[in-house]
Amino acid sequence: MAIEPGASGESARYTLRAGDQRLDLNARLGEPLRLAWTGAIACTHCGRATKKSFAQGYCYPCFKRLAQCDTCIMKPELCHYFEGTCREPEWGERHCFQSHVVYLANASGLKVGITRGTQVPTRWFDQGAVQALPILEVDSRQQSGFVEVLFKEEVSDRTNWRAMLKGETQALDLVAERDRLLARLEAGLANLRERFGAEAIRLLDAPPVTLDYPVLEYPTKVVSHNLDKTPAIAGTLLGLKGQYLILDSGVINLRKYTGYEVEVSV
Ligand SMILES: [Zn+2]
Repeated sequence: MAIEPGASGESARYTLRAGDQRLDLNARLGEPLRLAWTGAIACTHCGRATKKSFAQGYCYPCFKRLAQCDTCIMKPELCHYFEGTCREPEWGERHCFQSHVVYLANASGLKVGITRGTQVPTRWFDQGAVQALPILEVDSRQQSGFVEVLFKEEVSDRTNWRAMLKGETQALDLVAERDRLLARLEAGLANLRERFGAEAIRLLDAPPVTLDYPVLEYPTKVVSHNLDKTPAIAGTLLGLKGQYLILDSGVINLRKYTGYEVEVSV
């Protein structure tokens, strides 16, 4: 599912990609939608058929071989490039050794996160954040991991997806939260600057961003569909938030089913 920022003052634009099919989901709000998994899964990296999907869309050999499936992608502070054991050093050089942004977001409350500079604001839409504020820029993914570990002393790095889908998120003053956290973590940041160089961790002065989602109605009770157990699901499309479809029959996290061959009918 592709998510793009809407035009000024409009909510995000959602496009469902299934095979060659492209479906404008915003246009389907309030309408019936049916998804049926054929039982086939193709690895998103090599295309090979796989019985099970690993790390949201990979076959087992790719999952074990690719740098993008290594533990250090989820926990960048564990980067082992400098030990000479990166699974794919060239991939690492291209993806991890470039500027990363540390941000605050509000999807179900205050959280800290990191992303490649180029993935802003996509990453925030993926998470269903309603507010976001880039706060620091660093030179590598590993450095962003160290900064995130520091921030986790004070703030969560998780989203409560049920709360996010209920749409009950209270607005936060992210600029005030940033100033509060930077003051509390001053000593830790100074240590990291000493380690990586004074210029390695840079303060950003970006404005806070508000993100809007096309939702007619939020669920009061969040029930989730599972294609592995129930391959065909149907319902009236009530909204789109994060990587979720909100149907009147339940919600579904489409990211989880990346690589699944799904037939979509309206
Ligand atoms: Zn594969």
